[in-house]
Amino acid sequence: MGYLFYHNAHTVALRLGSQSSVELPVAALVLATLGLGAALILTGGALRSSASSVVGWRQRQRERRHQALLRVREDGHRWLWSGDLDAATRALARYVEQNPHDVDAVLALANAYDERGELEAERRLLETERAVVGSEARLLHQLGRLALKRGNAGAAIDWLREAVQQHPESPRLLGELTAALAAEGRFAEAVPVAQRQVAAERQPAHRDEAIQNLTALRYRAAESDPDATSGDRALRRLLGESPEFVPTVLRLASRARAAGDIRTAERLYRDAIRRRPRGVLLERLTALHAASGQVDRALPILRDACSGNDLAGPRLALARALVQAGKHPAADAELADLVRDTPAWRNNGIDVAPERDLVAGELALARAQDREAATLLGRAATGGHRPFAYACPRCARVWSEWRDQCRCGAYGTLDWVVDATPAARGRAAGEPLAAAGA
Ligand SMILES: [Zn+2]
Repeated sequence: MGYLFYHNAHTVALRLGSQSSVELPVAALVLATLGLGAALILTGGALRSSASSVVGWRQRQRERRHQALLRVREDGHRWLWSGDLDAATRALARYVEQNPHDVDAVLALANAYDERGELEAERRLLETERAVVGSEARLLHQLGRLALKRGNAGAAIDWLREAVQQHPESPRLLGELTAALAAEGRFAEAVPVAQRQVAAERQPAHRDEAIQNLTALRYRAAESDPDATSGDRALRRLLGESPEFVPTVLRLASRARAAGDIRTAERLYRDAIRRRPRGVLLERLTALHAASGQVDRALPILRDACSGNDLAGPRLALARALVQAGKHPAADAELADLVRDTPAWRNNGIDVAPERDLVAGELALARAQDREAATLLGRAATGGHRPFAYACPRCARVWSEWRDQCRCGAYGTLDWVVDATPAARGRAAGEPLAAAGA
């Protein structure tokens, strides 16, 4: 710069406008220009650094808000687990509003609504979510379960079918689709789905349950087949494959009986009784022959049923059939045996008194001993359970008559209270009697 001042001391005119101009030494002009450039660079730098610090501040704010929301989400889940549904719903709803793509949180909120019984709010949430993230299998599954819960099995089937398309090997989805189809009475459609579930099920316990379910559905599909011939064929095939499933036996026998084929009906009962002398089989066999006035035809099979086991049911059924057949001394002897063995059964938690009193009362009635009959029948009616009542080992519900499906959903489980499993019997003693057909 000194060099410029010394050797180029002349001035140049800098025109500032059309009228004004200043005269400056060259060196001063260069200096001013350089100064201006430096000022510009410095200002730019300062601006840039302050802008980036604003961005950083915004990012930190966003991060803080995000962390706060995650805490809200965590709180929501924790409250859901601890059962504080109001707090859980508030927290999760707040979180989901900001994060509609978090399907897990949406499902947690849906569950909170579900547990509060706010099914309409749950439906709205799930359908909105579906519009946001599309047909996610977990959403479809939840929508299906919700529809089933609201009694709309048709909609549940549509949701679950769509979910199954995405996860064709999911036993859980297949099982729920099966249940929805069955709830709609679409048993023939449910059978192949249940078959796929059995094939997909890996856990042995679940697999056994799926097989039982498949058997029940095949039975329902066969017995409700509008084509009686193909329905009969399907029932016979099912009997061959699952002979222990009692509803098939009873359905085929009652069809044979309705067609006047007593021999086939008897054979069906007899074969099933040999597998296991279930109360309903003994009762139906006796009724089959009683209808034609030939109860004694049932006696050999009933006697057979009493051997090889320590069940009370077959012996009570035999004593009752002896009374009906007019074989009073034999009935007397059987009743005396029953009285003798009653304490042993009682030690095992089995109360045969109501059945025994009923049979003894029927015998007294047949012998025209009315006063004694009244006493015995009265005692039978007020005993620990209703004589020859049925209990479900799955749910312990007690029924006055046999039915193929219990209200708990189980098929073919009912057995006489005196022959039911100890657990079911224990609970059955305190249970009110469910009316047949209810
Ligand atoms: Zn049950």
